[in-house]
Amino acid sequence: VVNFKTIIQGYPGKSPSHGGLGWSTVSLLTVGDERILVDCGSFGVRGTLLKNLKTLGITPESISTVLLTHLHWDHCVNWTLFPGATIMVGEMELEWALKQSTGSHQLPELYVEALASSSRLRVIVPGEEVLNNIVAYHVPGHTPGHLFYYISRERDDIIIAGDAGKTRTELTSGAADMTMDQDASKRSIQSLWDMWAVKPGTILVPGHDMPMVLKDSIPTYLSTRNVSIDSWFGDDLMSIRHFDIREPE
Ligand SMILES: [Zn+2]
Repeated sequence: VVNFKTIIQGYPGKSPSHGGLGWSTVSLLTVGDERILVDCGSFGVRGTLLKNLKTLGITPESISTVLLTHLHWDHCVNWTLFPGATIMVGEMELEWALKQSTGSHQLPELYVEALASSSRLRVIVPGEEVLNNIVAYHVPGHTPGHLFYYISRERDDIIIAGDAGKTRTELTSGAADMTMDQDASKRSIQSLWDMWAVKPGTILVPGHDMPMVLKDSIPTYLSTRNVSIDSWFGDDLMSIRHFDIREPE
């Protein structure tokens, strides 16, 4: 049985003034001795990521696999934190990413280069069962080589969509924000729906939002949102302005 847990909750927003927040979803799958992270976040969440794993009794060294949906900085940078892990990434995504000029896409160029020459890299292709009961599928649009992962379980299967379906809103509207190819994204979102609707209870995990199930065909969150920002505008460190940036009640 593959167990599933959200380690970092994705957030469906960006800043008009400062661009992407990079608050992407990090998921943990455990099966037997295997500890598999699907996407691994970026610098800002490092402390939280390691703390949340430690709370579960999981050391960085014990992570056996990091599965990457795509190579945007907010999903992949922390592959370097897990010294024993095999890092799996789509062949097409890696080849594409290596060819892009610096600054042209949301790619951490040096981390991608280091991954490409790492002995721990394993390049995977769509349709491949990358681990027992985990199959990768091609969902282009957001990036050309984006993959999602389908995890088969006895009861509730799991679709880890990554940024092929970043938010609940992308799923319900059928269109994508921040995509390289809107038509391809629309087809990819449709293919997520096609797989999601097959088996009742299947969990879909967006790249920047919380896990959902379909209840009467409506995407319904499985958890409550926990996200806020503390700011310092005053004259002493104790005066903190706390911003709740959840959806208003
Ligand atoms: Zn992305």
